[in-house]
Amino acid sequence: MPTLAYPIGNSLYLNSTNRCSNECSFCIKIQSRSFHKNDLFLDTEPSFNGIMDAIEEFSDFDEVVFCGYGESLLRLDLVKQVAEAVKQRYCTRVRINTDGQANLVYGRNIIPELVGIVDCISVSLNAPDAATYMRLCHSPFGTAGFTAVCDFIRLAAAEIPEVIASIVRLPSLDVDTCKALALSLGASFRVRSYYRG
Ligand code: SF4
Repeated sequence: MPTLAYPIGNSLYLNSTNRCSNECSFCIKIQSRSFHKNDLFLDTEPSFNGIMDAIEEFSDFDEVVFCGYGESLLRLDLVKQVAEAVKQRYCTRVRINTDGQANLVYGRNIIPELVGIVDCISVSLNAPDAATYMRLCHSPFGTAGFTAVCDFIRLAAAEIPEVIASIVRLPSLDVDTCKALALSLGASFRVRSYYRG
């Protein structure tokens, strides 16, 4: 039975899709179908009620995080609906972990649609430049993908209370250059562990 909601620490993670707008070479989906003993391979994409029922199984969490085996913002309408309901029912913090390409996917700036219902957006910057980004993430948008990620971070930082730009800890990446870029875009910076499954 696929997992729709799973706790890590005081955060409750929501798995709403397996689709993604990137094909990262380090993606955990390639390594394992489970994460923290949860099967995150979905048979079908869950409905609003399916996600809300999954959240109700848990009573003690400080935030919900849209982050499963896919890009949650490909389900933008569901994310907005769930985020709003979570705010109303649980008065808790809402975070989205994203590849930052939603504005390219939708052809518009979607960040204003998240204002007031999302407290934090963590964007996978993943690289200091477009060539490295393409080598690691294989964006279907080509080098425009990296430009879009940087623009997304900058736009989000102007409207969302907390914006984090992150990279995966890989030997080939220049952490200092990535950090300088993240800070210049108005975000804080985080290095994520490389998970091997
Ligand atoms: S953006 Fe995330 S889910 Fe999508 S391919 Fe990359 S690592 Fe995997």
